[in-house]
Amino acid sequence: MKTTLRETVYIRMYELVTRRNIWKPLKSLSESQWYTPKEIRQLQEEKLLLLMHHAYETVPWYRKVFNQMDIYSPKQISIESFEEMPILKKRILQLHYPQKLLSRHFDRQGGFEDRTGGTTGGPTRYFVGPKAAGYRAANATRNQHWYNYFHGQSNALIWGAERDLSSDNIQSRIFQQLSLNRIEMNAWDMTETQMRKFAIKVQKQRPRILAGYAGAVAIFAKFTLENNIDLKFDSGIVVSGELLTDQNREIIETAFGSKIFNRYGTREFGSIAHECSCHDGLHINGESFIIEQGEKYDDGYSLLVTDLNNFAMPMIRYEIGDVGLLSTRKCKCGRGLPLLETILGRTTSYIITPQGSYVNGIVFPHLLRDYGEILEFRVIQQNIDEIDIFLVLKNPLDEKQKESIRRRLSNFLQSIRINLIEVDKISLADSGKRDLVTSKLVLEMD
Ligand SMILES: [Zn+2]
Repeated sequence: MKTTLRETVYIRMYELVTRRNIWKPLKSLSESQWYTPKEIRQLQEEKLLLLMHHAYETVPWYRKVFNQMDIYSPKQISIESFEEMPILKKRILQLHYPQKLLSRHFDRQGGFEDRTGGTTGGPTRYFVGPKAAGYRAANATRNQHWYNYFHGQSNALIWGAERDLSSDNIQSRIFQQLSLNRIEMNAWDMTETQMRKFAIKVQKQRPRILAGYAGAVAIFAKFTLENNIDLKFDSGIVVSGELLTDQNREIIETAFGSKIFNRYGTREFGSIAHECSCHDGLHINGESFIIEQGEKYDDGYSLLVTDLNNFAMPMIRYEIGDVGLLSTRKCKCGRGLPLLETILGRTTSYIITPQGSYVNGIVFPHLLRDYGEILEFRVIQQNIDEIDIFLVLKNPLDEKQKESIRRRLSNFLQSIRINLIEVDKISLADSGKRDLVTSKLVLEMD
């Protein structure tokens, strides 16, 4: 395994403080990524069987689930049982955490409790056990190696979630202290002055990577283009947290002259999938996660995640709230890890029509960019038969333009009424993300 002295020290210190194993899983992940797809499937099945047995024996919720499937002994559990298991909805976590969902053998040490934000219908709490927590750090580290970045090297970050930036959590603080060379900019505060300051620091310190939410990185990229500021990141640009539109990919790659590495990470599971240097789909961290395609959407499927390492709180076939598409292709890099073709958006960023279609919210940025008057927008669907589009405008739209927007959108949205509402400012979501399109209807259907 290729690493650096500084990274080795970094990982050892992190292990000491958090009491989690990272080194060992990292070494094994560095090897298993080159297994054949068949070998990876075998590894997944072995881990899955262990997890299902453990869930049956020690988690009240899963004992009930298996009993409902006419399974009354762990001997009856097979790989085939997995596909018959019900989908784990967020609602179940909201109702039954912690009593029914934690393992009887759960131990707080080395693990942590967390919750997702409100955009997915109120906070959802869960517990990440020590093994899963160690694998999380190892997955993230392995993914960084794909773009030749090692812990402790200089990096620049544009981030929004307040608690990720300035957490009072001791472990995060130690991580931050060790990241001596980090330059940060808060996505909540991207004024021209802040962006200029950030750019000057980047020019001086030359960080190897720039990481952040896709929308925020694109805004910064546009700023550097408009002001003729030349910035280079030797290892590349890593974006996550939001849908990466083709338009934003182009702006970012033009501005910084390097390819984007798209990362699919979630609060619940950390880094689930990541692009390699072939940039041909995202490799799933398959030793840790089984990803399945659930409910059908117009252009993809609602994704289900099984975490193969969380024995403290098994999460099997968890509906994560993202729409994506799996691939059966094999990547040219030679890694046998399964590929995720693309992430298409949050389930909540699909507009639902009265006719029953799920229309991907991506149509809005694609279409609205043709209207130069529109500086920013946000779409919210409260009812099945109408949507509100909030617009920040350079100049007011005339009737002809409004009519043109409505007409073109109607091709996708059918009979939905489109309200165009002018506002002064569009506020960010609680997480600091720029969620361009939100349908409140998906939440109610759970
Ligand atoms: Zn690859």
